[in-house]
Amino acid sequence: MARIGFIGLGNMGLPMALNLVKAGHQVEGFDVNNAAVDQLVAGGGTGVGSVKRAATRGDVIVTMLPSGKDVDQIYLGPDGVCAYANPGTLLIDSSTIDVQTARLVAQVADVKGLSMLDAPVSGGIAGAHAATLTFMVGGSEAALVRGRPLMEVMGKTIVHAGPSGNGQAAKICNNMILGVSMIAVSEAFVLAEKLGLDAQKLFDISSKSSGQCWSLTSYCPVPGPVPTSPANRDYQAGFTAAMMLKDLRLAQDAAKAAGADTPLGADAAKIYAEFVETGEGPRDFSGVIRFIRGG
Ligand code: NAD
Repeated sequence: MARIGFIGLGNMGLPMALNLVKAGHQVEGFDVNNAAVDQLVAGGGTGVGSVKRAATRGDVIVTMLPSGKDVDQIYLGPDGVCAYANPGTLLIDSSTIDVQTARLVAQVADVKGLSMLDAPVSGGIAGAHAATLTFMVGGSEAALVRGRPLMEVMGKTIVHAGPSGNGQAAKICNNMILGVSMIAVSEAFVLAEKLGLDAQKLFDISSKSSGQCWSLTSYCPVPGPVPTSPANRDYQAGFTAAMMLKDLRLAQDAAKAAGADTPLGADAAKIYAEFVETGEGPRDFSGVIRFIRGG
């Protein structure tokens, strides 16, 4: 069993860390929010007072942080993971961040004799609790061989996307599909309403036709057809509109840097930015249908 330093015990990180505890690992958590560390301790983990201490003690370091700026600071800062981890330590960053920062941190880690995986996830908070996350992994095959058993404790599907940064590339491409498809499905339901076509009828037809997609059949933005979708609980998140906007902006930054033309991705980012500006950032991203409908 490994000694794991887990940094970032938020909505996603805490349940992931607790699943590692349940599997018998020694999990030592750090978060700037002490209440989150207390919750880990209540679940059988321990707390460490600093990133430096987590780094010096861990065989493995897992991070689940809000942004690329946080990841840069935690790994590359003067008291950060790369400065203090013992050579050979495996580093797994599961935050959703920009590809450039993921590649930079992996390069520095490599120079220090550390093994780095970027391993963002999909599956949301429910998937983090149920240990059914999908991990999209960038990094070496050898590092993944070491990381896979831990990811299997926290998730169900682990896909090697290629070298460092490719996990993040997969994540932002996937979420660009999701953001665009949710808007497309929402526009179709709003148009159907205006044409006098019942939402359930559109669902019955499109879910069996060429319009079928995850945003329609698993996460339908109108109440009724898919009882588990957030539309049935006043768009309580789920996956927040603010998070969707963050990921669409990451995709746009990556598209600009790579010279890729993604006009629908750009429009989706603009629509989500306007939706979030109305104060709906904490609401589920499928609530964008209300914005499209105009209230
Ligand atoms: P969160 O805000 O709930 O958790 C982040 C945690 O990091 C917080 O507890 C915060 O206190 C801690 N933190 C911030 N800066 C820190 C620092 N310098 N040192 C130590 N701790 C620090 O966010 P979340 O929902 O858990 O998401 C985490 C990451 O996972 C994000 O990158 C997000 O995009 C990604 N993600 C989230 C979801 C989701 O549904 N919530 C799904 C997939 C991916």
